[in-house]
Amino acid sequence: MSNSSRERELEQRIQQLESRLEQSRRASAWSASGPTVHAPESMREVFNAAEETVRRYFSEVLIDPARATIQIGDERYVLMRASSLSVDFLMAIRHLYADLGDDEAFAIGRNFLFDIAHVIGIEDARVFHEKMNLTDPVERLATGPVHFAWSGWALVDISPESRPSPDADYFIKYDHPYSFEADSWIRAGQRSDQPVCFMNAGYSSGWCEQSFGVELTAVEISCRAAGDDACTFIMAPPQRIREYVAHYAPENHVTRQDAFRIPTFFERKRVEEEMKSARRKAEESDRMKSEFLTNISHEIRTPMNALIGMIELVLETPLAGSQREYLNTSLQSAESLMEIINQILDFSRIESGKMELAPRPFSLRGLIDEAMRPLEILAEEKGLKLSWKVADDVPDAVRGDSIRFRQVVVNLVGNALKFTENGGAAMEVRLERKASRDVWLHVVVKDTGIGIPVEKLESIFEAFTQVDMSTTRKHGGTGLGLSISSRLVDLMEGRIWAENNPLGGSTFHFTVRLELDAPSPHPELAGVPVVLVVDYAEHRTALERVLTKLQMDVVTAKSSHDALTLLMNRKTPRHRRHLLISDVKDNLILLESIRSRPEIRDTEAISLIARDDAGDVPRLEELGVKACLIKPIKQSELIAAIKQSLHSAKSPPIEPDRTRPGEQAVHVEPETAGGAQEKKAPGESGVRILLVEDGVTNQKFAVAMLHRWGHEVAIANNGLEALEMLDTNPDVYDLILMDVLMPVMDGLQATKEIRLREEGSNRRVPIVAITAQAMKEDRDRCLSAGMDDYLSKPIRRRDLQKIIAERVVK
Ligand code: ADP
Repeated sequence: MSNSSRERELEQRIQQLESRLEQSRRASAWSASGPTVHAPESMREVFNAAEETVRRYFSEVLIDPARATIQIGDERYVLMRASSLSVDFLMAIRHLYADLGDDEAFAIGRNFLFDIAHVIGIEDARVFHEKMNLTDPVERLATGPVHFAWSGWALVDISPESRPSPDADYFIKYDHPYSFEADSWIRAGQRSDQPVCFMNAGYSSGWCEQSFGVELTAVEISCRAAGDDACTFIMAPPQRIREYVAHYAPENHVTRQDAFRIPTFFERKRVEEEMKSARRKAEESDRMKSEFLTNISHEIRTPMNALIGMIELVLETPLAGSQREYLNTSLQSAESLMEIINQILDFSRIESGKMELAPRPFSLRGLIDEAMRPLEILAEEKGLKLSWKVADDVPDAVRGDSIRFRQVVVNLVGNALKFTENGGAAMEVRLERKASRDVWLHVVVKDTGIGIPVEKLESIFEAFTQVDMSTTRKHGGTGLGLSISSRLVDLMEGRIWAENNPLGGSTFHFTVRLELDAPSPHPELAGVPVVLVVDYAEHRTALERVLTKLQMDVVTAKSSHDALTLLMNRKTPRHRRHLLISDVKDNLILLESIRSRPEIRDTEAISLIARDDAGDVPRLEELGVKACLIKPIKQSELIAAIKQSLHSAKSPPIEPDRTRPGEQAVHVEPETAGGAQEKKAPGESGVRILLVEDGVTNQKFAVAMLHRWGHEVAIANNGLEALEMLDTNPDVYDLILMDVLMPVMDGLQATKEIRLREEGSNRRVPIVAITAQAMKEDRDRCLSAGMDDYLSKPIRRRDLQKIIAERVVK
């Protein structure tokens, strides 16, 4: 080692020694002139040991103001002016809360000081005990008063009747002859009308609480700042403190009744705990409530499904006039019950935070038109006027959850009609604001009805709230509609409110944010209902994509038969008729059958034909086909042909339907004249379906429906039976309709097994789930089990038909 480095090392060493010397010089300045705790003889020994421990702790003091350091051992400390924590602080608080009155203001200061000191006491004790390795409760406790004295709070004088036992009997009575708090008042020349040593009480009870693991509080029963001879305290578990105070408080305390207010630290803690646990319980019960609602709604939907289906089937048979009327009434009642159940489901979904929006592009005007049409019929029936308008500057091509948007509109307009007897309702969609990607709309629904009492204008948006709550209410309803609407509007980032019109009736408003969709270059095509039927899947998909981009309302079919079924059953918006775009081998036959059916005779048609079939063109034209395009076709050609066919279309008659407003799962099917929908013999369509379902009624209903369409049906009562049937005849079925909840083996399990068995073969039979579980995650579960699609109960004929048309390749 070189000389210079040796020198440097020595210098460093000298510096270290000097700083140690400085430290010990300071520590020795921190020396006590006598014992720091006055304890009864019986406790002397343990306090002597405590004196030793605390002295050791305080022997390593480092004070370096240049670094804002006051350090004892490796703990940093701060020095504070004692008065600032007592007389000054309390005076400031009194001043700050003067409007609450002196007592209240003082209580705020008192509780604050007690709480903060109690927590500091607990923490100081914890750290000190850990550092000094103290495990015995009595030793831990005894260091408290000594530490107290060393850190400048107060000296403790413990009275002989004290019994510091680590249990509910803990009790000590002690004086602080030099309490910094009382001292600060006396020095300031202030006199208090009640004790003031709250930090002393809080800190020492915190320390003792931590030492013994027993909850403790302390109360000062006489105080030098209040003119008493001594600052005397009582420390005990909070539940017993009153008892001791009553016993030990000095005689004259009666004149100062309030002088011994017990700090409410524990009470506040208890109330907080109670609140927390009450909140937990409420959340739990909310969850259970919404689960219960979901389950019960599900249970009700299943039999309702069968009920509605059966009524519909009977309605399609020849019936006497009164029978038809009775059944129509039953159907209406059943459907309104379904509406209520749907509302409850929606509500519980919202409550449990499970409501999710499903945005998709849609034509705003198309949607409004479609939503208002059934309401218009209701208005007509009631002799009311209903008008609606979408302002010209509102963009049409938007993206958002069209179903939920429509639900809110239908709820508000439905209510407007429900609560109006004369006059009518008007709905308007206005543009509120437009940005580069989003648009904010403002929907206004105004009526001339009964209006809403001013005090209810806000509460009607709460669940189950109705203005007229009497049992003899004139208007039905659950009182859930508006609360669901209001939550949906929240989800759509808007707001909803109501006001009364000066001349009677009320006006409801809501706003929503929707995304702007790229406007179609051919806006006149948006919303046009199209049935696209193409043999080849690839061509079909490509064409569907083109038409959807044009925002046309497309459904696809794989065969002429399916196309026919779709045309028969798909309701179009008013003043609209279907456009059929076909590219199938039996195109001529398809068009002939369309023209032979009065209900769909005036369907517009465009045919795509192979060059070899050009000979068919004259006959097709005879059949009213507007354009025959020879394949391969160009997109521009197709668009021109569609426009031309629409241009020449005449306005068809409007056909009323029996769908009523307020229905969410709107069931739109034309009443075929006298139920005269063509009935087929089972097996005629060549489609074979395996129905896996345990409910006999549902089986009957589904079979009746499927037979009617000419499909062959085999039934399995549960998943296991289905597997057995598939094992015997793996290639027979074109489609499996699979219930989810079934005994023996459920639908999810069965599907997994089926997919497993298909592995390695080139077979993959489409499986469609049929379940009343309407949540999104249920659908996801079905799909991840290997199912291809999902039908929610109650099954609507149209949905089932569509799925069969889409899934069965024939
Ligand atoms: P419901 O109509 O099923 O009772 P809603 O939540 O849709 O439930 O409506 C709650 C209540 O608000 C109604 O019962 C009615 O008292 C009041 N209300 C709603 N819309 C109107 C309206 N347009 N005119 C008068 N009162 C209305």
